Amino acid sequence: MFKKIVIANRGDVAIRVQRACHEMGIKTVAVHSTADSSAMNVRLADESVCIGPPKSKDSYLNIPAILSAASISGADAIHPGVGFLSENPAFAQIVSDHGLTFIGPKPEHIKVMGDKIEAKKMALELGIPCVPGSDGAIRTTDEALLVAKDIGFPIIVKAAAGGGGKGMQIAFSETELSNAIKLAQSEAEASFGSGEVYIERYLSNPRHIEIQIIGDKFGNVVHLGERDCSLQRRHQKILEETPSPALTKKVRNDIGALAATAMKKFGYESLGTIEFLYENGEFYFIEMNTRLQVEHPITEMVTGIDLVQKQIQISAGEPLGISQDEVSLKGHSIECRINAEDPENFIPSPGKIVDYHPPGGFGIRIDSGIYAGYEIPPHYDSLIAKLIVHGQNREQCLSRLQRALDEFVIGNIKTTIALHQKLLSTKNFIDGEYDIHWLEKHLLKQ
Ligand code: ADP
Repeated sequence: MFKKIVIANRGDVAIRVQRACHEMGIKTVAVHSTADSSAMNVRLADESVCIGPPKSKDSYLNIPAILSAASISGADAIHPGVGFLSENPAFAQIVSDHGLTFIGPKPEHIKVMGDKIEAKKMALELGIPCVPGSDGAIRTTDEALLVAKDIGFPIIVKAAAGGGGKGMQIAFSETELSNAIKLAQSEAEASFGSGEVYIERYLSNPRHIEIQIIGDKFGNVVHLGERDCSLQRRHQKILEETPSPALTKKVRNDIGALAATAMKKFGYESLGTIEFLYENGEFYFIEMNTRLQVEHPITEMVTGIDLVQKQIQISAGEPLGISQDEVSLKGHSIECRINAEDPENFIPSPGKIVDYHPPGGFGIRIDSGIYAGYEIPPHYDSLIAKLIVHGQNREQCLSRLQRALDEFVIGNIKTTIALHQKLLSTKNFIDGEYDIHWLEKHLLKQ
């Protein structure tokens, strides 16, 4: 097993990985920007190294600085966390070229799944059903029109290098197509440095259902059920739950087995999430994330499996040690993403946290690095805490979540706690009746 791990990330996920390491007797090195010197993960790490100024490109994306930190601290592995370098195949390769272990899958798997056009081709080869769309990149409106004849309108234009809900445009008719392509291309170019786009049918009322899988270096792969991440704003997840109110046990087992079989054929090792849209009883692959997910805790709550520890053990060459029959899903879990944002207009609200009182009690978990007196820097993602609740069933989970949100005090900054409280009081959500458009249509001001 590793003796010392560099955690190349910040915020709640850095703390999450650090906790897993410390429980396993592994020393941690926190690498951080100058803006994060007083962050909780830096305080709790065994060692810390400042790797640059606040801007991510100069610190959390600064590969030479991260490798230097690993070298001077004598670490033997690097955990990339979520975001930043976690899905960068060149980084994974450079880490292993330097004699260190990248805690994640093989670089070639990250590469294929990182290009959404290649990912869809691979998914089809592996027997995973996809949203009908173009076979490859679309350059002109004429090319798009030919595909549209087959699949019909509405159509969504998406960035091949996409992520974070960026670079997507919808065309409801032929007249809107040319503009949608141009807009998606320029947004993709600006956000990802590549203007390559593709098109697929725009599903009108699907749910976003994703399957968590985990594989080891010996060809063992299991699935750990699904997460329903349909509650979204601008294609970004706000609240996730498992099990999905929309799936039966049989549907779950079938899609889980399909995902696990495909990943076994792929030779995939480490954690992975296969994302689907689910509409009228059919699953359609949209992408695969080759890393830990923000919403992984809800899977941990119902399976009792520490996903980060498993991920580290697998990278260290240990066998998975769980068969599919041994995976049992118990109760219900929900995660609320608490962002430092105005709950009405979503404008970021960085600043100093004066009062902090997290909820506690049976079935409550908080993954966060904030504390009273902590100054939220303005340079990064506005996610500051994840409130994760577990109950014996959905009903208990909902009342526990309501109680936890009512107890939660984060002052004086604005947070999205109020949005979650509002959501919890709506009949559709209580009844589990929602799709990917529901939140924007029914709860948010346009
Ligand atoms: P990203 O990598 O930017 O998160 P995804 O491909 O994972 O992009 O899609 C994010 C979200 O965008 C989905 O959960 C869904 O809400 C919406 N979306 C993506 N593709 C489609 C589609 N074909 N039809 C309808 N909505 C879609």
